[in-house]
Amino acid sequence: MTPNLLQADVLRHLTFTQGKDAPHASLQDWRLALSHAIRDRIVVPWFAATRRTWADDRKRVCYLSMEYLIGRVLEDAMINLGLYDVAVEAMAGLGLDLRALIDDEPDAALGNGGLGRLAACFMESMATLGCPAYGYGIRYENGLFRQHFEHGRQVETAEDWLAHVDPWEFTRPESAYTVGFKGQVEIRDGREVWFPEETVTAEAHDTPVVGWQGKWANTLRLWAAKGTADFDLARFNRGDYAAAAEPETLARTLSRVLYPDDTTHQGKELRLKQEFFLTSAALQDILRRYLANHGDLGALPAHVAIQMNDTHPAIAGPELIRLLSDVHGLPFDRALEIARGCLGFTNHTLLPEALEKWTMSTFGTILPRHLQIVERIDSWHRRNWPGRPHYLGILKHGEVRMGELAFIMSHKVNGVSALHSQLVKTTLFPELDAMHPGRIVNQTNGVTPRRWLRMANRPLAGLITRTLGEGWEADLDRLRGLEPHVEDAGFRADFAAAKHENKVALANWIGRETGLALDPHAIFDVQIKRIHEYKRQLLNILQTVAHWHAIRANPEAGWVPRVKIFGGKAAPGYAVAKEIIRLINDVAEVLNADPVTNGLLRVIYPPNYNVTMAERLIPAADLSEQISTAGKEASGTGNMKFMMNGAVTIGTLDGANVEILHEVGAGNFFLFGLTADEVARRREDPEHARKAIQASQPLLDVLQMIAEGRFSPAEPERYHGLVHRVWHHDYFLVASDFAAYHAMQAEVDRAYADPARWWKMAALNTARSGFFSSDRTIRGYMDEIWQTTSAL
Ligand SMILES: *Cc1c(COP(=O)(O)O)cnc(C)c1O
Repeated sequence: MTPNLLQADVLRHLTFTQGKDAPHASLQDWRLALSHAIRDRIVVPWFAATRRTWADDRKRVCYLSMEYLIGRVLEDAMINLGLYDVAVEAMAGLGLDLRALIDDEPDAALGNGGLGRLAACFMESMATLGCPAYGYGIRYENGLFRQHFEHGRQVETAEDWLAHVDPWEFTRPESAYTVGFKGQVEIRDGREVWFPEETVTAEAHDTPVVGWQGKWANTLRLWAAKGTADFDLARFNRGDYAAAAEPETLARTLSRVLYPDDTTHQGKELRLKQEFFLTSAALQDILRRYLANHGDLGALPAHVAIQMNDTHPAIAGPELIRLLSDVHGLPFDRALEIARGCLGFTNHTLLPEALEKWTMSTFGTILPRHLQIVERIDSWHRRNWPGRPHYLGILKHGEVRMGELAFIMSHKVNGVSALHSQLVKTTLFPELDAMHPGRIVNQTNGVTPRRWLRMANRPLAGLITRTLGEGWEADLDRLRGLEPHVEDAGFRADFAAAKHENKVALANWIGRETGLALDPHAIFDVQIKRIHEYKRQLLNILQTVAHWHAIRANPEAGWVPRVKIFGGKAAPGYAVAKEIIRLINDVAEVLNADPVTNGLLRVIYPPNYNVTMAERLIPAADLSEQISTAGKEASGTGNMKFMMNGAVTIGTLDGANVEILHEVGAGNFFLFGLTADEVARRREDPEHARKAIQASQPLLDVLQMIAEGRFSPAEPERYHGLVHRVWHHDYFLVASDFAAYHAMQAEVDRAYADPARWWKMAALNTARSGFFSSDRTIRGYMDEIWQTTSAL
């Protein structure tokens, strides 16, 4: 592929796909034309992969996820196809800056945070590894809300990524399935038959996902909801326009919005309908494809592995049984065994408020046949494991428990980090684990190094290639080869220079966005993730205030300059999280305006954190904040992205931090805080917060300042509730971990003041991050859960 050929393709698409004449084309027109020209190149390996899979009758992985947090596609696709440099030249020849075209693409934000981003990384790794796979999800018209701040407060607006065409998708009106809801179950010829009262059509939209070097591509198939009833022309002709369109409008609400809450289960009817919509359409599609060249449904598990990303698609168990028995006539127990042979379940959380439960009345109204099937699954399980404790079961206290359902209907259940998988065994499903030994396995999360290192961090990727040669992107353990170089001052200087280049770029961007000037020599200290009490952004901002207070008391003490960067959204209904956002912004306003300290300490909170912002911030970070209350973060994946990019972690022994610490070594990680066991014990003391506060003068001072309205002078009592909660409730142990965190931050300053020490630590973080490639994770799923091999 030469620049000239690509240029010709772009012009052809501009003319014949966009219908635009070059002199009148907008930036967006050019971006769409380039995207189509790039997509053409993906179609070739995509078709080849599909043909190979059919010809070899290969087992396919079907990944079911309510979320895919994809971000932008164009640059990632060009890099995987090796066309980036060609595209720079081709577009320059047309008088266009490739960067501007890349930056014109909106993020596909079909997810809340880590869970959705994991699904996107997995799709890329499956394509890279040649693992034949379909990703199934929902084509939300409105993805995750946009965030901006008004007087420091989060304000949400609708996201509309589909307001313009999505150049990556192919609409497949011919691949459509009917999904039903409500209605009755009747016996016909001795068989249960479900007569739904409502139906919608699920229409497929396919996006090809190409792997590294374009050797393989899989399909991300997202379902859009459409009405099934014909448009009511009679009503329309009578002038009743709104009523004529009503069935269509109702159907479309199903794929309209992504629920913007990643940790609380609310039991909303529409959510259950969305979950069933995704799952039923996907399973119908899977069976249709299987039956196209197989007769025996009994062999389904040898040909299809279906992975449930959390319990959201856990209705897959009953729905697959229904399709196999009610529709295809297999006996119930046989259908159950086949379904279990196909299904795997990934658990993502231990937070009790996040565990999905539906009241039996909601569940039974929307899915009457499935409620019967769930009852049969539960009694089948009770019969076969007679020792099952009476308090256990899928149906308890008038509720359907989706965790138990997913566990019982899967042949493998996995946690997402070593610590988390252990806690899944000991605290979440101890009885089920004892009944089904070996079913729970661990697959520690990972992230794709193509996007998160090669694409997001060109300066460092370039240094790695110059040091190790080509090809490390698909063999990330090779980064170990950097280790001997960390003793070399020249290499360390190159490593530091790469980081500096990223920091300057970030400072320029923040300068443009906010008008604030940042010192790129300062420590860039970054905490970006959803705002949640357990993630403890509050601990970070309280420590920031303590640090400010200390600088003010002694401005000439030789402080190491620091830039504190926050990013993240709060669920719209999560009042405490929103209060924390406001506090961060209020503190930022006061600190950034303080002439005594603002050369030494800045607080920056750019709004609307998303994948694209993560790609800007992470390569520029020196310090990665991973400070959740131990035992609460299942894995984290942000922590892995930072490590790969040469940021040093300050963190607790939680989630995959434990494995990061193990890989990188204690000398290259700022560890602090209570362990998961200590957290549980500490909570038993009802006075834990008060004792911790009274033992720490800096924390006392900070809480005093906030309570006095130092950061909210127009409304001094604004944070009384928040301060009161720290004193008297503090479930997430902010007070108990404060002193250790504050002391460890001082250690960070000392380390940064010694460049030889710091850059060795930073470089070792990159060198030892190979384990956290999602390629390693996917190989684990392929071997231990999916029983499938690479087609490459
Ligand atoms: C990686 C990522 C996350 C997950 O971050 P954690 O720190 O693991 O919670 C969330 N949002 C975006 C945009 C990400 O890229």
